[in-house]
Amino acid sequence: MKKYLKKFVEARVRNMVAGLFLPAVLLMLCVFCGGCSKQPQEYRSVDTVMGTIFRQQIFVTESNEATENITGEITACVRALETDHLSRRIDGTEIFHVNALAGQKQKISGELFHILEQCETVKAASGGAFDVSIGTLVSLWDIDAWAKEQEGFVPPQEDAIATCLEVMEAESLWLQDGMVCVPEGMQLDLGAVGKGAALDRVKLFLEENPRVSGAVISAGGSILTYGSKPDGSHWKVAIVDPFDSAQTIGILTLDGQWCVSTSGDYERYVEAEGERYHHILDPHSGRPADSHIKSVTILAKDGLLSDALSTACFVLGVEKGMKLAEYFQVEVLFVNEAGELFMTEGMQQYFRKL
Ligand code: FAD
Ligand code: MG
Repeated sequence: MKKYLKKFVEARVRNMVAGLFLPAVLLMLCVFCGGCSKQPQEYRSVDTVMGTIFRQQIFVTESNEATENITGEITACVRALETDHLSRRIDGTEIFHVNALAGQKQKISGELFHILEQCETVKAASGGAFDVSIGTLVSLWDIDAWAKEQEGFVPPQEDAIATCLEVMEAESLWLQDGMVCVPEGMQLDLGAVGKGAALDRVKLFLEENPRVSGAVISAGGSILTYGSKPDGSHWKVAIVDPFDSAQTIGILTLDGQWCVSTSGDYERYVEAEGERYHHILDPHSGRPADSHIKSVTILAKDGLLSDALSTACFVLGVEKGMKLAEYFQVEVLFVNEAGELFMTEGMQQYFRKL
Protein backbone atom coordinates (compact mmCIF):
# COMPACT_ATOMS: atom_id res chain seq x y z
CA MET A 1 0.00 0.00 0.00
CA LYS A 2 2.88 2.32 0.98
CA LYS A 3 4.61 1.46 -2.28
CA TYR A 4 1.44 2.25 -4.21
CA LEU A 5 1.04 5.58 -2.33
CA LYS A 6 4.66 6.54 -3.11
CA LYS A 7 4.13 5.88 -6.82
CA PHE A 8 0.89 7.87 -6.71
CA VAL A 9 2.61 10.86 -5.01
CA GLU A 10 5.53 10.68 -7.46
CA ALA A 11 3.10 10.67 -10.38
CA ARG A 12 1.22 13.71 -8.99
CA VAL A 13 4.50 15.57 -8.49
CA ARG A 14 5.57 14.68 -12.06
CA ASN A 15 2.23 15.92 -13.37
CA MET A 16 2.53 19.13 -11.36
CA VAL A 17 6.03 19.76 -12.65
CA ALA A 18 4.85 18.99 -16.18
CA GLY A 19 1.85 21.20 -15.57
CA LEU A 20 4.11 24.10 -14.68
CA PHE A 21 6.92 23.27 -17.08
CA LEU A 22 4.92 22.63 -20.27
CA PRO A 23 3.05 25.93 -20.23
CA ALA A 24 6.36 27.69 -19.60
CA VAL A 25 7.94 25.89 -22.58
CA LEU A 26 4.89 26.67 -24.72
CA LEU A 27 5.05 30.30 -23.65
CA MET A 28 8.74 30.45 -24.59
CA LEU A 29 7.98 28.81 -27.96
CA CYS A 30 5.20 31.32 -28.59
CA VAL A 31 7.52 34.21 -27.80
CA PHE A 32 10.23 32.68 -29.99
CA CYS A 33 7.89 31.98 -32.93
CA GLY A 34 6.30 35.37 -32.50
CA GLY A 35 9.79 36.78 -32.90
CA CYS A 36 10.35 34.69 -36.04
CA SER A 37 7.15 35.77 -37.68
CA LYS A 38 7.68 39.47 -36.91
CA GLN A 39 7.15 41.28 -40.18
CA PRO A 40 10.19 43.08 -41.60
CA GLN A 41 9.97 46.85 -41.60
CA GLU A 42 9.27 48.30 -45.05
CA TYR A 43 10.93 51.48 -46.35
CA ARG A 44 9.91 53.20 -49.58
CA SER A 45 11.22 56.23 -51.45
CA VAL A 46 11.05 57.99 -54.82
CA ASP A 47 13.81 60.33 -56.05
CA THR A 48 15.20 61.65 -59.31
CA VAL A 49 18.66 60.38 -60.19
CA MET A 50 20.47 60.26 -63.56
CA GLY A 51 17.62 62.17 -65.19
CA THR A 52 15.15 59.43 -64.32
CA ILE A 53 12.87 58.19 -61.51
CA PHE A 54 14.62 56.17 -58.81
CA ARG A 55 12.26 54.04 -56.68
CA GLN A 56 13.09 51.89 -53.68
CA GLN A 57 11.13 49.36 -51.65
CA ILE A 58 13.28 47.79 -48.96
CA PHE A 59 12.46 45.23 -46.28
CA VAL A 60 14.59 45.29 -43.15
CA THR A 61 14.56 42.82 -40.27
CA GLU A 62 15.43 44.31 -36.90
CA SER A 63 15.08 47.93 -37.91
CA ASN A 64 17.00 50.36 -35.73
CA GLU A 65 18.41 53.86 -35.93
CA ALA A 66 21.00 52.73 -38.45
CA THR A 67 18.36 51.42 -40.86
CA GLU A 68 16.00 54.42 -40.54
CA ASN A 69 17.71 56.27 -43.38
CA ILE A 70 18.54 53.29 -45.55
CA THR A 71 16.77 54.64 -48.63
CA GLY A 72 18.54 57.99 -48.21
CA GLU A 73 21.90 56.23 -48.02
CA ILE A 74 21.18 54.25 -51.17
CA THR A 75 20.04 57.35 -53.08
CA ALA A 76 23.25 59.10 -51.98
CA CYS A 77 25.31 56.12 -53.14
CA VAL A 78 23.70 56.20 -56.62
CA ARG A 79 23.86 59.97 -56.83
CA ALA A 80 27.58 59.82 -56.05
CA LEU A 81 28.04 57.43 -58.98
CA GLU A 82 26.36 60.04 -61.19
CA THR A 83 28.03 63.17 -59.82
CA ASP A 84 31.53 61.79 -59.16
CA HIS A 85 31.94 59.40 -62.06
CA LEU A 86 29.39 58.88 -64.83
CA SER A 87 27.56 62.05 -65.83
CA ARG A 88 29.11 63.79 -68.80
CA ARG A 89 26.83 66.76 -68.13
CA ILE A 90 28.34 67.65 -64.73
CA ASP A 91 31.64 69.52 -64.66
CA GLY A 92 34.01 67.61 -62.38
CA THR A 93 32.93 64.00 -62.93
CA GLU A 94 35.48 61.48 -64.14
CA ILE A 95 33.73 61.16 -67.50
CA PHE A 96 33.60 64.93 -67.87
CA HIS A 97 37.41 65.08 -67.43
CA VAL A 98 38.01 62.11 -69.72
CA ASN A 99 35.97 63.83 -72.46
CA ALA A 100 37.46 67.26 -71.82
CA LEU A 101 41.00 65.90 -72.07
CA ALA A 102 40.40 63.80 -75.19
CA GLY A 103 43.65 62.76 -76.80
CA GLN A 104 45.43 62.35 -73.43
CA LYS A 105 45.92 59.27 -71.29
CA GLN A 106 44.25 59.64 -67.92
CA LYS A 107 44.19 57.60 -64.72
CA ILE A 108 40.63 56.66 -63.74
CA SER A 109 38.98 54.96 -60.76
CA GLY A 110 38.79 51.17 -60.64
CA GLU A 111 35.00 51.36 -60.83
CA LEU A 112 34.97 53.44 -64.03
CA PHE A 113 37.71 51.31 -65.55
CA HIS A 114 35.65 48.16 -64.88
CA ILE A 115 32.52 49.78 -66.36
CA LEU A 116 34.38 50.83 -69.52
CA GLU A 117 35.97 47.39 -69.85
CA GLN A 118 32.53 45.74 -69.74
CA CYS A 119 31.24 48.28 -72.31
CA GLU A 120 34.10 47.43 -74.66
CA THR A 121 33.33 43.70 -74.29
CA VAL A 122 29.70 44.32 -75.28
CA LYS A 123 30.80 46.57 -78.14
CA ALA A 124 33.04 43.83 -79.56
CA ALA A 125 30.44 41.07 -79.13
CA SER A 126 27.67 43.17 -80.69
CA GLY A 127 29.73 44.11 -83.75
CA GLY A 128 29.66 47.77 -82.65
CA ALA A 129 25.85 47.98 -82.25
CA PHE A 130 26.53 49.06 -78.70
CA ASP A 131 29.18 51.76 -78.39
CA VAL A 132 29.66 54.23 -75.53
CA SER A 133 31.94 56.35 -77.72
CA ILE A 134 28.71 57.60 -79.28
CA GLY A 135 28.78 60.90 -77.29
CA THR A 136 29.30 63.27 -80.23
CA LEU A 137 26.30 61.72 -82.03
CA VAL A 138 24.12 61.97 -78.91
CA SER A 139 25.04 65.67 -78.67
CA LEU A 140 24.46 66.18 -82.39
CA TRP A 141 20.94 64.77 -82.11
CA ASP A 142 20.51 66.94 -78.98
CA ILE A 143 18.73 64.08 -77.20
CA ASP A 144 18.87 65.76 -73.76
CA ALA A 145 16.76 68.66 -75.03
CA TRP A 146 14.04 66.48 -76.56
CA ALA A 147 10.55 67.00 -75.22
CA LYS A 148 7.57 65.00 -76.42
CA GLU A 149 5.51 67.96 -77.53
CA GLN A 150 8.56 69.73 -78.95
CA GLU A 151 7.94 71.87 -82.02
CA GLY A 152 10.39 72.66 -84.77
CA PHE A 153 12.92 69.85 -84.23
CA VAL A 154 15.37 69.69 -87.11
CA PRO A 155 17.33 66.43 -87.48
CA PRO A 156 21.09 66.83 -87.95
CA GLN A 157 22.63 67.27 -91.40
CA GLU A 158 24.02 64.16 -93.10
CA ASP A 159 27.52 65.60 -93.34
CA ALA A 160 27.58 66.36 -89.60
CA ILE A 161 26.56 62.74 -88.89
CA ALA A 162 29.24 61.52 -91.33
CA THR A 163 31.94 63.51 -89.49
CA CYS A 164 31.03 61.81 -86.17
CA LEU A 165 30.95 58.39 -87.83
CA GLU A 166 34.37 58.90 -89.43
CA VAL A 167 36.00 59.33 -86.01
CA MET A 168 34.08 56.41 -84.49
CA GLU A 169 35.07 54.12 -87.37
CA ALA A 170 38.72 55.15 -87.54
CA GLU A 171 39.54 55.37 -83.83
CA SER A 172 38.77 53.44 -80.71
CA LEU A 173 38.92 53.89 -76.98
CA TRP A 174 42.28 53.06 -75.40
CA LEU A 175 41.93 51.30 -72.06
CA GLN A 176 44.88 49.84 -70.20
CA ASP A 177 46.55 49.62 -66.75
CA GLY A 178 43.83 51.67 -65.03
CA MET A 179 44.07 54.41 -67.66
CA VAL A 180 41.85 55.57 -70.49
CA CYS A 181 42.35 57.69 -73.58
CA VAL A 182 39.48 58.98 -75.71
CA PRO A 183 40.71 59.86 -79.20
CA GLU A 184 40.30 63.52 -80.20
CA GLY A 185 36.93 64.15 -81.79
CA MET A 186 35.32 61.36 -79.76
CA GLN A 187 33.20 61.67 -76.60
CA LEU A 188 31.96 59.03 -74.16
CA ASP A 189 28.29 58.81 -73.15
CA LEU A 190 27.28 56.25 -70.52
CA GLY A 191 23.53 56.86 -70.85
CA ALA A 192 23.00 53.25 -71.95
CA VAL A 193 24.69 51.68 -68.90
CA GLY A 194 24.55 54.20 -66.04
CA LYS A 195 21.38 52.86 -64.47
CA GLY A 196 22.56 49.26 -64.75
CA ALA A 197 25.87 50.23 -63.11
CA ALA A 198 23.84 51.96 -60.38
CA LEU A 199 21.97 48.72 -59.68
CA ASP A 200 25.28 46.88 -59.32
CA ARG A 201 26.36 49.50 -56.76
CA VAL A 202 23.09 49.14 -54.87
CA LYS A 203 23.42 45.34 -54.87
CA LEU A 204 26.86 45.63 -53.20
CA PHE A 205 25.42 48.04 -50.63
CA LEU A 206 22.55 45.64 -49.81
CA GLU A 207 24.91 42.67 -49.55
CA GLU A 208 26.88 44.55 -46.90
CA ASN A 209 23.69 45.13 -44.87
CA PRO A 210 22.61 41.77 -43.42
CA ARG A 211 19.49 43.38 -41.95
CA VAL A 212 18.07 43.84 -45.47
CA SER A 213 15.97 40.76 -46.22
CA GLY A 214 14.58 41.90 -49.56
CA ALA A 215 14.34 44.86 -51.93
CA VAL A 216 13.11 46.07 -55.30
CA ILE A 217 15.00 49.01 -56.74
CA SER A 218 14.17 50.63 -60.05
CA ALA A 219 16.13 53.27 -61.93
CA GLY A 220 14.11 54.20 -65.00
CA GLY A 221 13.85 51.06 -67.11
CA SER A 222 16.30 49.03 -64.99
CA ILE A 223 15.10 47.01 -62.00
CA LEU A 224 16.91 45.00 -59.31
CA THR A 225 15.15 42.33 -57.28
CA TYR A 226 17.06 41.33 -54.15
CA GLY A 227 16.56 38.71 -51.45
CA SER A 228 13.05 37.58 -50.63
CA LYS A 229 9.63 39.08 -50.00
CA PRO A 230 8.31 38.99 -46.42
CA ASP A 231 5.54 36.54 -47.36
CA GLY A 232 7.95 34.30 -49.28
CA SER A 233 6.19 34.83 -52.62
CA HIS A 234 8.05 35.62 -55.85
CA TRP A 235 8.93 39.11 -57.03
CA LYS A 236 6.69 40.35 -59.86
CA VAL A 237 8.08 42.76 -62.44
CA ALA A 238 5.64 44.27 -64.94
CA ILE A 239 6.79 44.79 -68.53
CA VAL A 240 5.49 48.02 -70.05
CA ASP A 241 3.43 47.87 -73.23
CA PRO A 242 5.58 49.84 -75.71
CA PHE A 243 2.43 50.84 -77.64
CA ASP A 244 0.80 52.29 -74.50
CA SER A 245 3.21 52.89 -71.63
CA ALA A 246 0.33 53.17 -69.14
CA GLN A 247 -0.35 49.45 -69.75
CA THR A 248 1.65 46.27 -69.22
CA ILE A 249 2.08 43.42 -71.69
CA GLY A 250 3.09 40.84 -69.15
CA ILE A 251 4.67 39.96 -65.85
CA LEU A 252 8.02 38.43 -64.94
CA THR A 253 7.84 36.18 -61.89
CA LEU A 254 11.29 36.08 -60.36
CA ASP A 255 12.91 34.20 -57.54
CA GLY A 256 15.93 35.68 -55.77
CA GLN A 257 18.17 38.24 -57.31
CA TRP A 258 17.81 39.52 -60.90
CA CYS A 259 18.39 42.64 -62.98
CA VAL A 260 15.75 43.49 -65.58
CA SER A 261 16.44 46.25 -68.13
CA THR A 262 14.13 47.47 -70.84
CA SER A 263 15.06 49.75 -73.75
CA GLY A 264 12.30 51.10 -75.94
CA ASP A 265 11.42 53.78 -78.45
CA TYR A 266 8.42 55.08 -76.46
CA GLU A 267 9.95 57.24 -73.70
CA ARG A 268 12.57 59.46 -75.30
CA TYR A 269 11.60 60.57 -78.75
CA VAL A 270 10.80 63.63 -80.79
CA GLU A 271 8.64 64.14 -83.88
CA ALA A 272 9.31 66.34 -86.89
CA GLU A 273 7.42 66.53 -90.18
CA GLY A 274 5.54 63.30 -89.52
CA GLU A 275 8.66 61.35 -88.64
CA ARG A 276 9.48 60.02 -85.20
CA TYR A 277 13.06 59.95 -83.91
CA HIS A 278 13.95 57.91 -80.82
CA HIS A 279 17.08 57.96 -78.63
CA ILE A 280 18.69 54.59 -79.39
CA LEU A 281 21.15 55.27 -82.17
CA ASP A 282 22.72 52.82 -84.57
CA PRO A 283 26.46 53.59 -84.36
CA HIS A 284 26.87 52.42 -87.99
CA SER A 285 24.29 54.77 -89.51
CA GLY A 286 24.44 57.55 -86.92
CA ARG A 287 20.64 57.62 -86.92
CA PRO A 288 17.94 56.17 -84.63
CA ALA A 289 18.12 52.36 -84.94
CA ASP A 290 15.78 51.00 -87.59
CA SER A 291 15.48 47.39 -86.46
CA HIS A 292 11.65 47.27 -86.38
CA ILE A 293 11.71 46.81 -82.61
CA LYS A 294 9.51 48.64 -80.08
CA SER A 295 11.15 47.32 -76.91
CA VAL A 296 13.70 44.83 -75.61
CA THR A 297 13.83 43.42 -72.08
CA ILE A 298 16.91 41.65 -70.75
CA LEU A 299 16.94 39.42 -67.67
CA ALA A 300 20.42 38.95 -66.24
CA LYS A 301 22.28 38.58 -62.96
CA ASP A 302 24.35 41.69 -63.64
CA GLY A 303 22.95 45.24 -63.82
CA LEU A 304 25.40 46.79 -66.24
CA LEU A 305 25.18 43.83 -68.60
CA SER A 306 21.38 43.86 -68.60
CA ASP A 307 21.34 47.61 -69.38
CA ALA A 308 24.03 47.44 -72.09
CA LEU A 309 22.44 44.41 -73.76
CA SER A 310 18.93 45.89 -73.85
CA THR A 311 20.36 48.80 -75.86
CA ALA A 312 22.53 46.52 -78.04
CA CYS A 313 19.65 44.10 -78.80
CA PHE A 314 17.37 47.01 -79.69
CA VAL A 315 19.89 48.10 -82.34
CA LEU A 316 20.51 44.56 -83.61
CA GLY A 317 16.89 43.39 -83.93
CA VAL A 318 15.47 39.95 -83.16
CA GLU A 319 17.74 37.55 -85.05
CA LYS A 320 21.14 38.99 -84.15
CA GLY A 321 19.92 40.13 -80.72
CA MET A 322 18.91 36.57 -79.80
CA LYS A 323 22.43 35.38 -80.67
CA LEU A 324 23.98 38.14 -78.56
CA ALA A 325 21.76 37.20 -75.59
CA GLU A 326 22.78 33.54 -75.97
CA TYR A 327 26.45 34.55 -76.13
CA PHE A 328 26.15 36.36 -72.76
CA GLN A 329 23.79 33.69 -71.35
CA VAL A 330 21.05 36.16 -70.51
CA GLU A 331 17.32 36.00 -71.30
CA VAL A 332 15.68 38.40 -73.76
CA LEU A 333 12.18 39.42 -74.77
CA PHE A 334 11.56 41.48 -77.93
CA VAL A 335 8.37 43.29 -78.92
CA ASN A 336 8.45 44.23 -82.59
CA GLU A 337 6.61 46.95 -84.49
CA ALA A 338 3.79 44.51 -85.30
CA GLY A 339 3.31 43.81 -81.58
CA GLU A 340 4.72 40.28 -81.90
CA LEU A 341 6.73 38.83 -79.02
CA PHE A 342 9.97 36.89 -79.40
CA MET A 343 11.86 35.46 -76.46
CA THR A 344 14.57 33.01 -75.47
CA GLU A 345 13.44 29.65 -74.08
CA GLY A 346 14.70 30.62 -70.64
CA MET A 347 12.57 33.79 -70.64
CA GLN A 348 9.44 31.66 -71.15
CA GLN A 349 9.89 30.23 -67.64
CA TYR A 350 9.55 33.68 -66.09
CA PHE A 351 7.29 35.66 -68.45
CA ARG A 352 3.49 35.48 -68.45
CA LYS A 353 1.64 37.44 -71.11
CA LEU A 354 -1.38 39.42 -69.92
P1 FAD B 1 19.09 52.95 -73.01
O1 FAD B 1 18.81 52.12 -74.18
O2 FAD B 1 19.62 52.24 -71.82
O3 FAD B 1 20.18 54.04 -73.39
C1 FAD B 1 20.00 54.95 -74.44
C2 FAD B 1 20.94 56.06 -74.23
O4 FAD B 1 22.28 55.57 -74.44
C3 FAD B 1 20.77 57.20 -75.22
O5 FAD B 1 19.99 58.23 -74.67
C4 FAD B 1 22.19 57.62 -75.50
O6 FAD B 1 22.63 58.48 -74.47
C5 FAD B 1 22.97 56.32 -75.41
N1 FAD B 1 22.97 55.52 -76.63
C6 FAD B 1 22.15 55.60 -77.72
N2 FAD B 1 22.45 54.65 -78.62
C7 FAD B 1 23.47 53.95 -78.10
C8 FAD B 1 24.24 52.84 -78.58
N3 FAD B 1 23.98 52.28 -79.76
N4 FAD B 1 25.27 52.38 -77.81
C9 FAD B 1 25.53 52.95 -76.60
N5 FAD B 1 24.85 54.01 -76.12
C10 FAD B 1 23.82 54.49 -76.85
N6 FAD B 1 19.05 62.77 -68.86
C11 FAD B 1 18.60 64.02 -68.68
O7 FAD B 1 17.68 64.43 -69.38
N7 FAD B 1 19.13 64.85 -67.75
C12 FAD B 1 20.15 64.45 -66.97
O8 FAD B 1 20.64 65.20 -66.14
C13 FAD B 1 20.66 63.13 -67.12
N8 FAD B 1 21.70 62.70 -66.39
C14 FAD B 1 22.18 61.43 -66.56
C15 FAD B 1 23.25 60.99 -65.80
C16 FAD B 1 23.75 59.72 -65.97
C17 FAD B 1 24.92 59.28 -65.17
C18 FAD B 1 23.13 58.83 -66.90
C19 FAD B 1 23.62 57.41 -67.06
C20 FAD B 1 22.05 59.25 -67.65
C21 FAD B 1 21.57 60.55 -67.51
N9 FAD B 1 20.51 61.01 -68.27
C22 FAD B 1 20.05 62.30 -68.10
C23 FAD B 1 19.99 60.21 -69.35
C24 FAD B 1 18.65 59.62 -69.11
O9 FAD B 1 18.45 59.01 -67.89
C25 FAD B 1 18.44 58.70 -70.30
O10 FAD B 1 17.10 58.74 -70.61
C26 FAD B 1 18.86 57.31 -70.12
O11 FAD B 1 20.20 57.16 -69.82
C27 FAD B 1 18.50 56.48 -71.33
O12 FAD B 1 18.25 55.26 -70.83
P2 FAD B 1 17.17 54.28 -71.41
O13 FAD B 1 17.04 53.17 -70.42
O14 FAD B 1 15.95 55.02 -71.81
O15 FAD B 1 17.81 53.78 -72.73
MG1 MG C 1 20.54 50.39 -71.72
